[in-house]
Order: sequence, then structure tokens, then C-alpha cells
Amino acid sequence: MPPETKQGQPYDQGFDLAYSLETAIWIFDIDHARVLKANEAACALWMAPNEAELTTRDMGADMSPTVAQRLQQYQSDFIQSDARFTELWTIYPNGTPRSVMVVYRGHRLDDGRMAMKCEVVGDSADTAQNLRSAEALLHTDVMIMLFGTEGPSLYLNPAARRFCGGSELVLSDIFEDQFEIDAIIEAVQRDGEQRRLTRLASHSGGGWFDLSVKGCSDAATGQPALLLTAIDVSELKEARDTARHLANRDQLTNLHNRSYLQNHLDWLEETNAAAGSTVIVFDVDRFKLINDRYGHAAGDTVLRKIAVRTRAALDAGDLLARLGGDEFVIVLPGPHDPATALNRIERVRQAIGAPILHGETRLDATISGGMSHVRSGSDHFAKVLREADIALYHSKKSGRDQVTVFDVDMGQAVDERERLEVALKQAVVNREFTLHYQPRLDLSTGRITGVEGLVRWEHPTDGVINPDDFIPVCEETGLIDELGRLVLEMGCAQAIEWHQQDLALDLSLNVSPRQFADDDFLRCLDDLAQLPGFPKGQIELEVTENVLIGDPVHIAAKLRRIVDMGYRIAIDDFGTGYSNLSYISEFPLHCLKIDRSFVAQLPSAGPIVQLILTLGQQIGAKVVSEGVETKDQLDWLADRDCTEVQGFLIAKAMPADTCATFVKAYTSAPKPR
Ligand code: C2E
Ligand code: CA
Ligand code: CA
Repeated sequence: MPPETKQGQPYDQGFDLAYSLETAIWIFDIDHARVLKANEAACALWMAPNEAELTTRDMGADMSPTVAQRLQQYQSDFIQSDARFTELWTIYPNGTPRSVMVVYRGHRLDDGRMAMKCEVVGDSADTAQNLRSAEALLHTDVMIMLFGTEGPSLYLNPAARRFCGGSELVLSDIFEDQFEIDAIIEAVQRDGEQRRLTRLASHSGGGWFDLSVKGCSDAATGQPALLLTAIDVSELKEARDTARHLANRDQLTNLHNRSYLQNHLDWLEETNAAAGSTVIVFDVDRFKLINDRYGHAAGDTVLRKIAVRTRAALDAGDLLARLGGDEFVIVLPGPHDPATALNRIERVRQAIGAPILHGETRLDATISGGMSHVRSGSDHFAKVLREADIALYHSKKSGRDQVTVFDVDMGQAVDERERLEVALKQAVVNREFTLHYQPRLDLSTGRITGVEGLVRWEHPTDGVINPDDFIPVCEETGLIDELGRLVLEMGCAQAIEWHQQDLALDLSLNVSPRQFADDDFLRCLDDLAQLPGFPKGQIELEVTENVLIGDPVHIAAKLRRIVDMGYRIAIDDFGTGYSNLSYISEFPLHCLKIDRSFVAQLPSAGPIVQLILTLGQQIGAKVVSEGVETKDQLDWLADRDCTEVQGFLIAKAMPADTCATFVKAYTSAPKPR
């Protein structure tokens, strides 16, 4: 234990000389915030009657946390090196502020602790503004550092010293690489200043700073110097990084999203790194069906699983993004041989093919893809993506569950298709469509009691075009909503006309799934049903089974509203879709139309046809067999109580006038009862 002085403070030699000095000198115990020793001049400065009184004062009592922190910093600076600071210090003896210029040095106490020796080197004659600015420099959290062109720092404010944990440093202590220092110095030499967001290293790990570097000269020597000002923006940067992550990622799968992909591809192009890259687009086969059947949560599970499996099957440098829905894109960067790309996608297909579990449900997903690559430096990704899309479309058309590599012929097909889209849009505006009518024969009376309206495009130069060549395009582009309305209008007008001519004919009209889902569809039906002479109960709407998939309560309600307006409902192409038979009886259905593929396969498809006939009887709907082409088919159906038949054996679809004449003239033997 060191000997104690009479005031109970640690004994300290080496201060005795100071007692005789004119300048104020005192020893400050940083740990306990007390003055240990003070000469007469110091006592006068602190307005203390004597040293004994001054040493009893608790200097920590009204000390601000920043000052306390700064003192700690000084202490560690002194421990590390023989540091010495000259600073303007405002003290408050008995509450009155006094600014003095003080030199601080380390002062080792006998008990080994580091205290601080303070020596006043002058009263401040500065203006109030200067005093305040000097104070601000001491207190601010902004780091301020002055460096000569070489060697250690010339000045660090307390915030800077706190950050780097020392009273002196060289540039390479805070910058992570020399390259950055060189770049900054070069920029300052060129522009006079440089500002950047950068990482600065410190003994405790460092952080992100808004750094400004200015060229100046050292006030003391006049030598060129660098003034660095750094504001800690680590939290801000983190928040921004999080925001960027969110903006670049797809929430469901955590894969990159469309906007990231776009930026990345732009960047590859700008840096001339695009050439040779392969682009693969793929989507999930019949994904809508998975959603409709098992719910959206199951759909989400499938997408997430596909994301994880695909990522795992790719190499680290490959980019995988989800564009939205069930659409994904893979980019294999840089040149590689075609076999590598095919291998990679095969690996992906294999991985995705394994069963996916959603709760207790086992789901199987396959994908269809299209692949193309950047052939030359002038090739743009936008074009390559489009080519991959075209190839994908090919995969879909050729039975799905495959990946097609783009070739130029496909491109031509697509150009044609685009021309078709443009022409169709114009055709809808010009109303270049008519309905042809195909008779339906009632087997019990031997008479034509109904017709199906089938749309035809009367192309100004190419003649009559059949719907299989344009309905799918209308479906995909959404044109079907307008075309569908046109068909309903034409059909209703024709039905009203026949009704007025006392021609008793039921008329059925086709409704596409997309049209059925459209919000305006019900309104359109309602408007037509209000027309004068509207033949209630004589217009039948043919929908496909897929329309009936989904929430059965909602669908039943929609169908009920349509029936209440005065329409009847038929299921078209029955047996080819995915009807859930358990709900069929809950829908207001008047007619099932057996798809012509079954009729064509009679008698081998007999059991299926028989099943549909029985089902029709069970739910009280009549059954119409489509595509009857032969006498044998007709007889087979007649023997089994099929209600109506439609097909080339009776007649093809024809214009309204011809059809009316045909209907009036038609006679055939009624089915023997
Ligand atoms: P769909 O509703 O199944 O119509 C029956 C199609 O089979 C018609 O072809 C008809 O001409 C044809 N067909 C009738 N009897 C026979 C036969 O004995 N043998 C053969 N091989 N074919 C026969 P079309 O008129 O070319 O229509 C094709 C499809 O286009 C229709 O199939 C329907 O899905 C769609 N479609 C036609 N008109 C419209 C419409 O106004 N709106 C919508 N959304 N789709 C329509
Ligand atoms: Ca039909
Ligand atoms: Ca049909």
C-alpha cells in the first residue's frame, strides 16, 4: 500500500516543484473525479481558499457524460503513449464559467493508476464564438482528423480518438485497403475534396461512415494536410441495406425478384460480361390447378420448394430469380458449352420432380422451360428473354414437363402470332365476326330443336377463319372479354329474331373460362336478358368443367344468378376436364355435352359415355353427344337414351339463314320408343 497523505489521498512525489510556480497546475484523479493536488495559482483559478478545500470537491457531481467519456479517453491515451493535448477548457469554479487553455499530460500515481496533470498555458482571449466552436469540436460525435501527407495523424478530436482507441494513428489503421487510400488521395489532389460512404476500421470493429476528405494545410506548419470528417452512419446503412434487400427479393421465396434481375442484366451488359450467358425461363405446369384444387397455401409451398431445390441444383455463380406467379428465370453467366447449360437444367428438373409434401398432401410438380443464350456482344437480354419465352411456349404446346432450346423458326412463328394479335384487336373493333349455327337433333322427336352458335372470323382478305385459330389467342391476350360480349350480343339478337319468326330453337353459346371470371360478364348477361323479346329459358351458356373448379359455394351462387336471369347452363366437353363430381349435383346444370373424343372412340369408349348418360339422368340434365359423324355412333347413342346429338352426320355449322331453312326442312324418323 502506498503511504497516505494527511488528506487521505495517495502520496505523490514530483509535484512539489509546482507549488512555487505562477501558472496554475493541478493533478486530477480521473477515476474518482477529484483534484489530488493543486498549487496556489490553481486554487485561485478554482476559487478555492486552499488546496485542502479544493481536494474535497466532487468534480463528478455536475459533470456531463460527454466530458466524463472524454476524460476516460484521455486516460487511455496517456496509458498508451506519452500523449499531450492542448485544449481550450471551460471550467465552472463555483458555477462561473472560465475558459483557459490547458495542457494535459499523463501523470502516473504511486498506486499505479493514471491521473492527469493539468497546466494552464494561458487565459483565453478568444471571442465567445471561437470559444463555442472550440467547445463544439471537443463535444461533437463527428470524428475530425488531420493528417499530414505522410506519417501519423496531426490532430484527432476526442470522438476520433475514442473510435480508434489511441491518440495517434496512420491512415492504414482505419482504411481496410491501401487501394482506397490511394484513390482518396488522388481524388483530393484532383478535385480538392472527396466524399464517400465507406467502412472505417477500429480496434472495436469499426462501422460505416459518411466520410468527407478535404485538402488543406496544417495551421501549425503550413505543410499540406488532409482533413477527414466522418459521421457514423452504421445504423442508417443497416436500415438501407435491409430496405434494399426487401426491394431486391421476392418475399415468398427469398429469391431475387424481377427488379433485381433487370438491374443485374443491365449491369452485365454495361460491363460487357453478357456474351455467352444462357437464360432459362420456366414455370410450373398447371400451377393454377394446384392452387384451385389444394388452395393457395399449397401453391405457396410448391413455389417455395421449387425455389429451394432449384437454388441447390445450381452453381453459386448462377442467378435465380422469381418474376412473379409461377415464373422463374435462371441466368448462367458467361460463356460455357451448351451441354453444361442442358446438364444444369436437367439437374433442376430432377430436383423439382421429387414429391412435395404440403401437410398430409403429396403434390407433384413438373416444370416447362425455354432456353436461349446471348450469342454476340450486341445481343440484348431483353431479346434473349423473349426467345426463351418463345421456347417455353413451345414446351407447353408439346405436352409440358420439358425444356426447349430456342431456334430461329420458333421466332418466326412468334412474329406471326404477334401479327395475329394486332389483327385480332382490329377485328374486334371492326366487328369482323359472325356466328355460324350447328343443329342439334333431338333423338326422341327426330327434329332439330336447338343449335350451337360457333363464332367465325370473316377476315377481309383471308376468308372465313375458324375459332380454334384465334380463340386461344383471345384467351391469352384478354381479348376474349370483348369478343365474348360480341358473341353474346349476336347470339341473343339472332335468338330474338327466330323467336319472332316463330322458329322454336334453343340456342347455345360458348363462354370461355376467362370470360366467365370477368366481373363485367354478369352485367352483360343481365343487360341482354332485359332486351324486349328475350327468349327466357331458350339460351344456354356452355362452360367448360374448369370453370367449376374452385370455391363451390361461390360458383354455385354465380351460376344460380345466371339461371335466375333466364339462361340455362351446359357443361361443354364433359369428361375431359377436372370436375369434382361430388359438387356437380349442387350446381344448377341443364345439360352435359359429351366431348367428341369419346364419341369418336365408340364403342370402346362405351363405358365412359354410358357413365355420363347415367350421371345426366341422376342430376336431371339432358345429355348431348358431340361430334357424331357416323350412323353407327348415332345408333349406339340412340339405343342408350341419349337426349340429343350434334355432329357432321346431321350438319356442319352454317350461317343463320341457311340454318333456318335447314331446320324447317329437316325430318328424320323419331327414335322408336
Ligand atoms: P366446341 O364448343 O366443342 O364446338 C364444337 C366444335 O366441333 C366446332 O368447331 C364444330 O364445328 C366441331 N364439330 C361439330 N361436329 C363435328 C363433327 O362431327 N366432327 C368434327 N370433327 N368436328 C365437329 P369450331 O366451330 O371450329 O369450334 C371450335 C371450338 O372453338 C369450339 O369447340 C369452342 O370451344 C370454340 N368456340 C367456338 N365458338 C366460340 C365462341 O363463340 N366463344 C368461345 N369462347 N369459344 C368458341
Ligand atoms: Ca361448345
Ligand atoms: Ca364441345
